[in-house]
Amino acid sequence: MKTVIKNGTVYQNGRLINADVLIEDNKIAAIGQNLKADKVINAKDKLVTPGLVDVHVHYRDPGQTYKEDIRTGSMAAACGGFTTVGAMPNVTPVPNTPDLMKKMVKENQEKGMVHILQYGPVTNDETTDIIPDYKALKKAGAFALSNDGHGVQTAQTMYLAMKKAQANDLIIAAHAQDDSLFNHGVINEGEKAEELDLPPVTELAETTQIARDLLLAQKTGVHYHICHVSTAMSVELVRMAKARGINVSCEVAPHHILLTDSDIPKNDPYYKMNPPLRSKKDQAALIVGMLDGTIDLIATDHAPHARKEKTGDMRDAAFGITGSETAFSTLYTKFVKTGVLKLEQLLSLMTDQPAKVFNLKNCGYLEPDAEADIAIFDLEQETELKEKDYLSKGVNTPFTGNKVFGETVMTLVSGKVVYER
Ligand SMILES: [Zn+2]
Repeated sequence: MKTVIKNGTVYQNGRLINADVLIEDNKIAAIGQNLKADKVINAKDKLVTPGLVDVHVHYRDPGQTYKEDIRTGSMAAACGGFTTVGAMPNVTPVPNTPDLMKKMVKENQEKGMVHILQYGPVTNDETTDIIPDYKALKKAGAFALSNDGHGVQTAQTMYLAMKKAQANDLIIAAHAQDDSLFNHGVINEGEKAEELDLPPVTELAETTQIARDLLLAQKTGVHYHICHVSTAMSVELVRMAKARGINVSCEVAPHHILLTDSDIPKNDPYYKMNPPLRSKKDQAALIVGMLDGTIDLIATDHAPHARKEKTGDMRDAAFGITGSETAFSTLYTKFVKTGVLKLEQLLSLMTDQPAKVFNLKNCGYLEPDAEADIAIFDLEQETELKEKDYLSKGVNTPFTGNKVFGETVMTLVSGKVVYER
């Protein structure tokens, strides 16, 4: 079966070219001019990119499928143009044994609309100091390790975990958070926290743990990846560490570059996430970090919750917002339309960069013989983000109502259409 995507603006090897993309079965057969096939997808005036790669999503399955499940989470990913995602292991049970990991990987394959890579935990239930058998987890299908949602509280545990991860050639993706400094805060420390009279989180909860971990990473040589960096000092620490040759990478979440705490209109749980929205100074530093390569990639931290968990008071609400459906269009509109980022830069941060950093084969690139994972976006037409269009069970995002460019037209996974506008 052959399909050709005709006349699109194609993102390939860091450049935008006008070309056709020929798909044969599940692979890309050719990229070039005047390619022919029986089935034609007209992509005139549309952007054709490798399927986006998101190394940070939460699918709540098993354990909390009222919030999201593998099917709906991956449908939301496809709706946003993502074709490969990394699922965090904070589900119930945590996949901390080879059997649980194998089961998780199988479920992801059977129910997923996109390719789902599975994280194993750094410690057994993400809060203990017991380190699981990484070698066995890797053999069972874990692609990396993370305790996302929790920081590893003791240096000794992180040190041992890093040594073991390094020995097994596994990346540790860290949610950097010192609980003794976090102190049950719900909003960034600063004027907005005072104005709304809400418990503040100091940036030190994030930065002190990053500083500690960078020293441990230097000693162990492990590939230490930092999830959702949110402060100016976090970026500065990573910049220094990279200059010293420490094996570190990091991601930024769309909301931390799109919004700041000053954008929080009132005590509204749709603006509650962890790390919290930071200051304008932090936002500016994150953008500089993205431009100079200190920040390696963008990842959504798609964190769906039920409506009742995100209403009422920020003190009681769950942390996190959805991100799969809104990431590309909101980022394109805010940063590319305004000239802050080139389109090629944004696409690199969402395709080839995550693939490169996590050493993922078969995603992030459009080239002959690659898996036919492709997203097509409409950059011309302005649309409004509406709850009814989300495919996630979660609608907990502050971006609903935003007018954006960059709506997904179509998403293909292994040559099959999995989403169509
Ligand atoms: Zn996290």
